[in-house]
Amino acid sequence: MSEPRTRNYAANVVGILFATALLAAIIWRLPINGWGSILWFLTMAVTGIIRRPHEQLAKGVATQQSRQDLVENLLLFGVVLGSALLPALHLVTGVFSFADYEAPTLLLLCGVLCAVPGLWLFWRSHADLGHNWSFTLEIREDHGLITRGIYTRIRHPMYAAIFLLYGAQALFIHNWIAGLSGLVAFGLMYVIRVPIEEAMMREQFGEAYDEYCTQTGRMLPRLGS
Ligand code: SAH
Repeated sequence: MSEPRTRNYAANVVGILFATALLAAIIWRLPINGWGSILWFLTMAVTGIIRRPHEQLAKGVATQQSRQDLVENLLLFGVVLGSALLPALHLVTGVFSFADYEAPTLLLLCGVLCAVPGLWLFWRSHADLGHNWSFTLEIREDHGLITRGIYTRIRHPMYAAIFLLYGAQALFIHNWIAGLSGLVAFGLMYVIRVPIEEAMMREQFGEAYDEYCTQTGRMLPRLGS
């Protein structure tokens, strides 16, 4: 077995072991946290399963240009903290239980109604971006401007998906800190990252990107034309 394949295999095993331990702890604390905690875990697990092959694909494609600076790293860390570390820590230890609030079960259904289209959009946007996807802001070798599929009328469908998924987090975890932290962290990232990403795409693709912007909305489809 070659080295990268061994490392990938090891990372997958560690990921599965970690997820299993987290699931066991969440089930153990189900009477305290309620069914929303299981729904949150399932949403996160499916998100990871959708993204994993794209992370592996991305490792094999050289980077032509990167905008990963300190601000971008801090924003990425904030998103990982808000969407995974804080909710997991709270569900396992109850550390933020002083910020819990009572909520009707109906909110869980609303969460599912956000999570299901969010997961579909997350999968579809990864599939359409193909080897052009990256975790951070990068132009890849042979980077093409994708204007088809879900990108035909929306420029940032993956970010729209993430808003739906972190909205579901808020509806599944009834805690002012662990529930809302994903939305807050990603909202901040969205506001700062999107202008930088669009400027990078404009620099790379010039008029083709300007033309594409006239035909698309950022997160909602531009109708007509
Ligand atoms: N903002 C997009 C993509 C997020 S992934 C979305 O929400 O769907 C981030 C990477 O996608 C960036 O590094 C950028 O290089 C790439 N990217 C964004 N839009 C693209 C497009 N229309 N075609 C090709 N690559 C794109």
